Amino acid sequence: AMDAPRDTSMTESPKHNQSLTYWIAGAIVAAIAVALTAPEFAVHFEIGGELFLRALKMIVVPLVFTSVMCGVLGLGDVRQLGRPGATAVGYYLCTTVLAVVIGLIVVNVIRPGVGTVDPAVLEKFAQGAELPNGQTEAPGMGVVLENLALMLITDNLFAAAADTQLLPIIVFTIAIGALMTTMMDRVRSIATLVTEANDLLLRFVLALMKLAPIGIFCLVTARFGKAHADGRFFEEISQIGWYFAAVIIGLAIHGFIVLPLIYYVVTKKNPYHYMGAMSQALLTAFSTASSSATLPVTLECAESAGVSKRSTEFVIPLGATINMDGTALYEAAAAIFIAQAIGFDLTLSDQLIVAVTATLAAIGAAGIPEAGLVTMLIVLGAVGLPLEYLGLILAVDWLLDRFRTAVNVLGDSIGAAVVGTTIPDAEPTTPT
Ligand code: ASP
Repeated sequence: AMDAPRDTSMTESPKHNQSLTYWIAGAIVAAIAVALTAPEFAVHFEIGGELFLRALKMIVVPLVFTSVMCGVLGLGDVRQLGRPGATAVGYYLCTTVLAVVIGLIVVNVIRPGVGTVDPAVLEKFAQGAELPNGQTEAPGMGVVLENLALMLITDNLFAAAADTQLLPIIVFTIAIGALMTTMMDRVRSIATLVTEANDLLLRFVLALMKLAPIGIFCLVTARFGKAHADGRFFEEISQIGWYFAAVIIGLAIHGFIVLPLIYYVVTKKNPYHYMGAMSQALLTAFSTASSSATLPVTLECAESAGVSKRSTEFVIPLGATINMDGTALYEAAAAIFIAQAIGFDLTLSDQLIVAVTATLAAIGAAGIPEAGLVTMLIVLGAVGLPLEYLGLILAVDWLLDRFRTAVNVLGDSIGAAVVGTTIPDAEPTTPT
């Protein structure tokens, strides 16, 4: 009886648009080809990419607000959040830890840093290193935990919105949504408004995605063209190629084996079909290197794929900010790689510290391009690795970032389906 009104006739998304996925994939391939053959020409597309990215980012904050609120209202009574809430947090933690373990295994087996990096290259990177934000010191563990806690509550909702800090907005929305469920007789019109606004925003995403092949072509060709023109494509990747390969192999194991297996075990459905249904979000993640900018597309794809709305509306916005499997895997692998390359001995207990801090670093990383590189300082600092050697992995990070962002988004998508088994949508009822 406390249910928020939901008009299912309008939320019924049109069937997943397969040909659009092919257009987007084709756009990425064409963009890379143009960037590699004519980099100077490619960079002129930057403005087109920027416009597409802005349009995506423009709707993130309102969409997070409406979708999380719909998620809370859909529960009817917020006390019902316990089980799915615990499942979601359990899923985030388990998959992040699994990702870290895979990162550690891959980098300990392949040993990409041992004897592969030319000492001259090492020297060059260390000297030319510009640390993110001009930081020179790694924060201590107490500071890290404090910062994580401070990320939950903002003192200014509008400032948080202006900076696209999603976590405090989500916390606020859950609190307000929970209160609304206790006074539904008085706030029913607000609930209706938010539900309709949510549907409207998703419609907007759907319309925007029609432009995605063009926007994504521009984004990718300009970025790859710039990298190629700077010599950051073949030259720098080949210098630390084994590291690059090790992280990609780790991400592939996590994305194509571990996460699909979890999906299959929990839902008993074909994970690769689901990944196909999410492919527009995965390709957008690759193109934007930002989980936050991809969030509208992730939400739209998961709704079209028929995942329980109640689950999608929580798990995906929250996951986009705190659940980053790809980032966690990369943080662990990169730290060990740097240690190998500079001949810094890491004991088993050091590796354990790397595992714990890589998990925290991934939770703390924002869903924006190369955020993981900044939180990497936590990991390096915790085991006493010299921070300036971050320069060693800096050169290829813009590219690696795209792959790990896609795995981050995949982790959230599969999380929504997993948690969805604990809160299936109620049979569509006519709004009261
Ligand atoms: N770019 C990543 C994301 O948005 C974060 C990272 O740098 O690892 O998910």
